[in-house]
Amino acid sequence: MALLRPKSQISIADEISLRDIHPDLQLKISPRAKRIALRLDTSARKMNLVVPKRFSMARALDFAIQHKHWIDEKLAELPQIITLDNGSIIPLLGRDRMLNINYDRALKRTSIILNDNEILISTNLEDPTPRLKRFLKKEAEDTMANLAREKAATINKTISDVHIRDTKSRWGSCSPDGRIMLSWRLIFAPWDAMDYVVAHEVAHLEHMNHGREFWRLCETLCDNYKSGKTWMRSNGHELLRYG
Ligand SMILES: [Zn+2]
Repeated sequence: MALLRPKSQISIADEISLRDIHPDLQLKISPRAKRIALRLDTSARKMNLVVPKRFSMARALDFAIQHKHWIDEKLAELPQIITLDNGSIIPLLGRDRMLNINYDRALKRTSIILNDNEILISTNLEDPTPRLKRFLKKEAEDTMANLAREKAATINKTISDVHIRDTKSRWGSCSPDGRIMLSWRLIFAPWDAMDYVVAHEVAHLEHMNHGREFWRLCETLCDNYKSGKTWMRSNGHELLRYG
């Protein structure tokens, strides 16, 4: 365990030792950190062992070993990944829907129908997941682009483009020339939460900051500002569970 090594350099031996403690534990040498710490990165589903630059690696490993139980617990508590398989239940636009996948070799093409409580997929594809993701992204785009344009119209603004992307950390953004980017994964959020993110970006068409006037406008553009904002703050990372 006593690893003698040059300062602030990560050796393969250190990485292996960390992985032995937990496969999702990773080392972050930080020039700014004052003390050693464990930080959970919920979106990457990793535990970061943050170590000050000149800290001894042997002590860092000891620290991690002492906290192994806590590391195991925190990582195990992360919401489970939900794959887009037959029988999976996914929340879509505020409703839980079961994926109902029917395989039929004889089919010429895949069809996907969004019902109230299910997504019905008839397919000849062995793995229809990429096709289903494209369908969900298109649903996200149609729903959110319309919503954004409706909200913008109420404040006499026009959106030049709504772009749907797969982002890990930002759920939305707005550029000064009126282009709005939104994550397709907002389709898995409760309606109020998705509505809040759309309203937030539309409000930036008027105020390119997070000042008082901005928040006031954002609130008036939301169906339910409080519940939407709160949900995103505490549960936003859960949107990464699906897929
Ligand atoms: Zn903002």
